[in-house]
Amino acid sequence: MFRLLFVAVAIALFIHLVRATIASFRGPDDETYGDPPDLPDRLDADGLSAWMHAKLVDAYALETSAWALERAARVEARLQDGVADEDRLRVVVLWIPEVNAFTFGRHVYLSRPLLERVRTDDAAAFVVAHEMAHHALGHVEAKERWIDRFAAVPAGGLVAGVILQAVRWRHSPEDELDADEYALRLCDAAGYDLKACLRALEVLEADLLDRGAFTSVYGPEPEDVDAEPGAGESVRRWLWERERGYPSLLERRERLRELAVELRGAAA
Ligand SMILES: [Zn+2]
Repeated sequence: MFRLLFVAVAIALFIHLVRATIASFRGPDDETYGDPPDLPDRLDADGLSAWMHAKLVDAYALETSAWALERAARVEARLQDGVADEDRLRVVVLWIPEVNAFTFGRHVYLSRPLLERVRTDDAAAFVVAHEMAHHALGHVEAKERWIDRFAAVPAGGLVAGVILQAVRWRHSPEDELDADEYALRLCDAAGYDLKACLRALEVLEADLLDRGAFTSVYGPEPEDVDAEPGAGESVRRWLWERERGYPSLLERRERLRELAVELRGAAA
């Protein structure tokens, strides 16, 4: 979910990191700006997660409003009720200006505008559960294997490498749909109102339409897609999804509505 939005944040982060990296050559004064400690020469996945977290917090500042922190904490705890404390993912609210959510390392990051707009715990829970699903289904593990490649290079190379990879970081359309399904089932098991959960998609849709991203919402028009003459609708859609990296929001919402009906039926 939100992969396109993540790219926007990653670009902003890239700019910040380039500036931070340049600043780090200037000497000991940098300490006073509260920068995280300089990147060590060697980092494992946990080290990188902690380093990236510090960079994100430095760039975007942590949320401080009680209602937002409480909502994040409630959702984090309720979705991971049976999970040992040390194995839990941590939900963090950042002052990123866009409607956005993504996961990196052991954290799920929500932007403040997203949390404001979803309005209920249920919808926030669906967004968080979707990011948790990428962990549970092994999507993140697969994506984070590249960290190993950078573990052995000097710090400067790691900075550039991390950001380049983050910008290109996309899940496949199948992974997105699987994460949606896992998320809705997780929300159902945690006792959330599924209809309220799905309002999260309306928030996303409104944001995408505000920004003119019509095909992200409705999927491809025939002229949006290059395909061999005679290729059918399903082929065009398949090509489009691979180009874009995710299914249309409309398709995701339809599937989730069907699943919600099924889950509610099972509960009745
Ligand atoms: Zn996703």
